[in-house]
Amino acid sequence: MNKLFLTCLTLFVVLTSTAHAQNTNNSSINNQKTKAMKFELPKLPYAANALEPVISQQTIELHYGKHLQTYITNLNNLIQGTKFENADLETIVKESDGTIFNNAGQTLNHNIYFLSFSPNGGGEPKGKLADAINRKWGSFENFKKEFNTAGTAVFGSGWAWLAKDKDGNLEIIKESNAGNPITKGLTPLLGFDVWEHAYYLDYQNRRADHLAELWKIIDWSAVEIRY
Ligand code: MN
Repeated sequence: MNKLFLTCLTLFVVLTSTAHAQNTNNSSINNQKTKAMKFELPKLPYAANALEPVISQQTIELHYGKHLQTYITNLNNLIQGTKFENADLETIVKESDGTIFNNAGQTLNHNIYFLSFSPNGGGEPKGKLADAINRKWGSFENFKKEFNTAGTAVFGSGWAWLAKDKDGNLEIIKESNAGNPITKGLTPLLGFDVWEHAYYLDYQNRRADHLAELWKIIDWSAVEIRY
């Protein structure tokens, strides 16, 4: 009886100390990782050529692989030693200005943008989001028209956003450069990038044509989750 108890006790001590050692190891590895590279490229849920012909593989490789990567690298470098060193991305966008805001805004904007597409996308939103769109614009077709008009009207580089307020009311917001409706207290649901780097290789100067095509690859299930 005593022997069995001792065996169990020994086993318990060995197991818990092993588990403790593993936890300590894991957390120190994670801390090192967090310090070395805080923000990372989000994984795309599709292949680089999967959105063709709406967005070409070359545009994905440059826009996601180079432009977005550069914003993220810049952001990680710029926040070192500042009050934003351990802040989350949304806080940085809301509270920063200058080059930190530009790179944080573009990191947030592109994270939303690239995770709004699917090769099986298109069609119309469902459920609560569809109801809110119909309440505001009368129909999905009318909403699309207004959104395309906003995107075409942004002068120079920027974004067209679908955003909601705290009561769930929708708005279309035009933003310049790295702007995001989060700085106006709104929640971004869908953003169309109208910087030339988003469309020039595939559509040259035809921004309106590019915006009209984007609806074919919108992953409404991803957008609905944000609402
Ligand atoms: Mn872009």
